[in-house]
Amino acid sequence: MLTSKDIIAKTEKYGARNYSPKEVVIEKASGAIAISPEGKQYFDMLSAYSALNLGHCHPEIVAAAKAQLDKVTLTSRAFHNSVLCEFYESLCNLTNKNMILPMNTGAEAVETAIKCARRWGNYIKGVKDGEQEIIVCGRNFHGRTSTIISFSTDNSARKGFGPYSCGFKIIPFGDIKALSAAINDNTVAFLVEPIQGEAGIIVPPEGYLKKVRGICTDNNILFIADEVQTGFARTGKMFACQHEEVEPDIYILGKALGGGIMPVSAVAADSSILGVFDNGSHGSTFGGNPLAAAIAVKTIEILVKGDYAAQAEEKGKYFMDKLRAIINDDIKEIRGKGLLIGVEFKSSAAPYVKKLIEGGVLAKDTNRQTIRFAPPLIITYAQLDAACVIIAEAFSGKN
Ligand SMILES: *Cc1c(COP(=O)(O)O)cnc(C)c1O
Repeated sequence: MLTSKDIIAKTEKYGARNYSPKEVVIEKASGAIAISPEGKQYFDMLSAYSALNLGHCHPEIVAAAKAQLDKVTLTSRAFHNSVLCEFYESLCNLTNKNMILPMNTGAEAVETAIKCARRWGNYIKGVKDGEQEIIVCGRNFHGRTSTIISFSTDNSARKGFGPYSCGFKIIPFGDIKALSAAINDNTVAFLVEPIQGEAGIIVPPEGYLKKVRGICTDNNILFIADEVQTGFARTGKMFACQHEEVEPDIYILGKALGGGIMPVSAVAADSSILGVFDNGSHGSTFGGNPLAAAIAVKTIEILVKGDYAAQAEEKGKYFMDKLRAIINDDIKEIRGKGLLIGVEFKSSAAPYVKKLIEGGVLAKDTNRQTIRFAPPLIITYAQLDAACVIIAEAFSGKN
């Protein structure tokens, strides 16, 4: 049997270096617990960047996947399958939209929303094709495709990957005046994360999303919410936009929609918007496949039935209070909503992450000085207590 050390060495020997994983190997996992080949147990407080909202290998989702594996897993969209309609219906009900376009990864759903907004701008709003503009925010994270990194402000995500796609205008996140000022006759959409995840769990000023909604409506531009990371109960509401009781025109969804089992993403909007896609204009071989659909249907069913939004809210408060009780002069700010929490340090967070992992808590620094805590929503209070003992120990005193 390969040890963790062997596995890491082999991985590094053959794998492209576009990631630099922490020195942990996960061989198996269940719920909020991940286990190494040597049997060391960890609390998973990253949840694969919120793709594991219902934890690792949720038994009901695994069962739904297994049942579908025995029937049919892939039909392509050349034919209908018997599960996709159920996925459409349940996601429409959840988002209060009447049309869904299924894809696989979050980045593909973002690309879908960009294409949708541009075509809507041309077909419906009457902007000349090629002149459409989309407003985005500084420090955004929307994925890794060449179009998406064209409007990233993160140099490491962009450097050397030109030529870049045009048609994007970047404004500061949380700045409502900048949004108004950036709009012109060619503006078709504003694309925004309701809480910026990769930037370090940046919560916008209260009332921001409500004002965004108003400005978008007044100027006939689409409000596109990228809820790939914040969606599906993570922040204490089913969707983070609901904290301000606003509905975007387009939801971009992914990560947790796949139940922690496989990539499932989607764009949800009304047919007046998503209807701009006609036959042949867009697609994906695997998008909406029956295995993905069965998994997504079960995932949504569990999230609703277990009222996981309320659970995330309560557990998030409990966890946040415990984090705030930790005294360390090096902590600059603790922020977040529900179970999406960032602890920002005055110095590099990396040494703290190292101590967390040694102690048995999986977490990762994002944007150098911030540690993101996003445990599975199914984590128990006893597990949170135990993890907080390790966190307090790791954060105590200077490095
Ligand atoms: C992770 C993420 C994406 C990209 O999703 P992938 O599945 O990695 O392509 C897009 N937007 C946000 C907000 C994300 O957090």
